[in-house]
Amino acid sequence: MSRAAAASHRALAALVVASPWRQRASCPRRRHVPWIRCDAADARDASTESASPSSSPHAGLTRAQRRALRQPYVPTAAERGLARAILETSSVEDDDVAFLVAPSSGDADAPSVVWFATSRKTSPPWDSALVRLVLGAREAGGRANGNRWARARMLTTRALSDLDRAVVKVAAQRATAFDLEDHDDDATADAPASPDDPRALERRDATPWARAAIRRGAMTSRVGLLPPKTLPVNDDDAAFRWASARASDVSENTQTQLWERDRGVVAALVSPRGEVTDAARNVNADNKCLHAEWNLLAPTLWGEWVLSPTEDDEIANRPGAGPEEAGPLEEGTRVLVTLQCCKMCAALVCAAADRPGRRGPIEVVYLNPDDGSLARDTQLRRRGWESRHAAPCE
Ligand SMILES: [Zn+2]
Repeated sequence: MSRAAAASHRALAALVVASPWRQRASCPRRRHVPWIRCDAADARDASTESASPSSSPHAGLTRAQRRALRQPYVPTAAERGLARAILETSSVEDDDVAFLVAPSSGDADAPSVVWFATSRKTSPPWDSALVRLVLGAREAGGRANGNRWARARMLTTRALSDLDRAVVKVAAQRATAFDLEDHDDDATADAPASPDDPRALERRDATPWARAAIRRGAMTSRVGLLPPKTLPVNDDDAAFRWASARASDVSENTQTQLWERDRGVVAALVSPRGEVTDAARNVNADNKCLHAEWNLLAPTLWGEWVLSPTEDDEIANRPGAGPEEAGPLEEGTRVLVTLQCCKMCAALVCAAADRPGRRGPIEVVYLNPDDGSLARDTQLRRRGWESRHAAPCE
């Protein structure tokens, strides 16, 4: 156990002595509480939840005690060394890195591997190292390993953005940001890597997988979804009737089990002139990130290459094809979606609205509310940019 971990363990032990948990034999003594509980908004969530005292393990703790329990994970020296080692191999100078360590498969004796992604410090929120890591690990892992890898703790050298947090909440489990400058690891940096040192493990780059995921999502989500020219202008009701019919196509035509199929959700872009210009559906059965709104905004945020059928990365890597060069959404563009946005898609819409050179909100109109926890307290709701379609839609 490292000195930092031992210290945090002692602090927690002292806290447990002082807490009502002591009387509860089955108290969950978590050494490291996911970062997600450090977020101010999530702290609010937690305090709301504790309104029913019997259901919360934190019931009866003072605010200071709860804060102590939410101390973020502290990366070990070996993990910091791994971050440095990955950054040293990166071709770009000013990069951030995100990585995870997890068993390579479900076999009992499977060796662990490192999945990593780097991205420039200046890259937009939707192209951060952490977003690349989640997208890429899920895409590479698919149904066999996607959950195993995405649920491992993710560490990143870039401060978590609202979008990073939301992506982790919806498609991963826990992530910790740390600053390499905060630690002087000279003593361990040059030490030979021991067998259990993560620097000795096989490394896999998530970025090509992330690009493949974005392209697959953008393309498959648009199959059979070209908005018809006959759709009347400035008529949300007609647009929702069309979108709902397309959404239920998916559900009815899929005979697979519920957990395997793509939930029938369609999102559409409406131009400032009221025309439905683009639409995409949810294709998240194999990659939890590929929601309808995500797929819809992909060409705007990552660039038109996402809709190119060319499989090689030549197009994606040429100058002008990066996220920085993609055009912003026109002022006054709206998003219609048949199901209320989750935290991740809400954060993505807000990030798209906040990009430099753009002003004003992106208004989102949804047809059906989502009562699930992932659609609670989203960025769109906080900003008041989201509303429910009012007219009856038969
Ligand atoms: Zn979503």
